[in-house]
Amino acid sequence: MLVEDIMRRSLITIEPEDSIRLALLKIHQHRIRHLPVVSEGKLVGIISDRDVRDACPSIISTPHNEDEKILDTPVSSMQEKSCVPRTNNRSTQHRFQNREGRLSYDLAQRIRGITMKIKSAFIYSDEYLHYFFNEEHPFNQKRLVLTLDLLQMMNLLSENDIVPPRMATDDELALIHDRQYIEAVKECGHSKQEIPIAASFGLGTEDCPIFPNMHEASALAVGGTLRAVELVMSGEYRHAVNLAGGLHHGFRGRASGFCIYNDCSVAIAYLRQKYDARVLYIDTDAHHGDGVQWAFYDDPNVLTLSFHETGKYLFPGTGNITERGDGQGYGFSVNVPLDAFTEDDSWLEAYDTVLPTVARGFKPDVIVTQNGCDSHMFDPLTHLSTSMRIYQEIPKLARELAEELCDGRLIATGGGGYDIWRVVPRAWTLLWAELSGQRIVNNVPIPQAWIAKYQEESPVQLAPTILDPEGLFPPIPRRAEITAKNKNTIEKALLYCPRG
Ligand SMILES: [Zn+2]
Repeated sequence: MLVEDIMRRSLITIEPEDSIRLALLKIHQHRIRHLPVVSEGKLVGIISDRDVRDACPSIISTPHNEDEKILDTPVSSMQEKSCVPRTNNRSTQHRFQNREGRLSYDLAQRIRGITMKIKSAFIYSDEYLHYFFNEEHPFNQKRLVLTLDLLQMMNLLSENDIVPPRMATDDELALIHDRQYIEAVKECGHSKQEIPIAASFGLGTEDCPIFPNMHEASALAVGGTLRAVELVMSGEYRHAVNLAGGLHHGFRGRASGFCIYNDCSVAIAYLRQKYDARVLYIDTDAHHGDGVQWAFYDDPNVLTLSFHETGKYLFPGTGNITERGDGQGYGFSVNVPLDAFTEDDSWLEAYDTVLPTVARGFKPDVIVTQNGCDSHMFDPLTHLSTSMRIYQEIPKLARELAEELCDGRLIATGGGGYDIWRVVPRAWTLLWAELSGQRIVNNVPIPQAWIAKYQEESPVQLAPTILDPEGLFPPIPRRAEITAKNKNTIEKALLYCPRG
């Protein structure tokens, strides 16, 4: 047999002056690994999916400068970046903390907006803390302990609400991930040597350093979300929350943006396969939910809706309004890229306008949410300017729509959030409070016992109340311009999607 017998004749190609964004789109849309670069009908080069990913900036060191629009660089400028794998053998010492300092009065009575508690599951195990890159890495699951402690000190979470996660099996991971990639993750986490092929899977990079037993830690985070799915789909629980999940940047065959396996994608594939459910995925992380979008880009039974800071200057660079899905899935990827420095009112205008319209048009059987809380003014990795108010509103509308459209079936995951002291514990407390029917309506104080326990360790002054007081942040000078730009984005986002 000759090469001509097996070669493809209809080629997807790209030109040297095309942007890296276009290359990325073509690779994902056509599920290919290589793109011949053609100029005036002549082959002048070839790029691979790895070249494209390596040319994209890291989530840690993203530029924010007009000259460095991240995906608008021409393909011809791409160069190999070197990836230095490193291992970290430091064993994690975090353990479940003692719950001293409970309030002497029932704070919950003062803050519950709804008196009837809903049966919701809080998926947690201290094994989650083994998802640990290294001491300097911004992704720090200490935030789970801070949140758990805050919830317990506010009497919002009891031991009965907590359900342990399970491990995702290899077959479950393979619903989304390539077997080769799963094997590479295992090998990296088990070996003391450097694994030469690691970098080709996005492992051992600045964003996703190798750490001991990384497969087990990552499969547990996925299993937590699968457990949440099972509890909700069986009808045993109305909602379930897995804050260790929300790892929305993980790709089929590649780690990306602090995410090894993509629990959201695996859970959605599991919902499709086991329950034949139509899934609405709502992603409110400041970064585009790229891994989930690409996994279901041509699937009309999964609608991915992402509200994020525009990818012009922020990792991963995608999430453009024009990414609307492919083939039968056209219209089922909805992106709302918001301008840098967007504040609460404009952020919420986008959310309150687009989400109900899309949800009612799509009519899901179940809702999966990703609750990254890195859009806050304090977050060190992004450039949005919201306060805690959006974290009060986000789960409220999601839950109302779940009640209206799918008998309450809602699975919530965590996500990004890099101010682990001032933002994440408060945001995820608001999330759990809402989803467990204990809505916090007033700006209640953070228990003194919690502040006393963590203030010394925190490099910043801990917040005294669950919401940010009015006027804490000075108004953004370009507010009117940003709001107008976002209004335009909202209109365009709704153009081709299901509308109700
Ligand atoms: Zn993020």
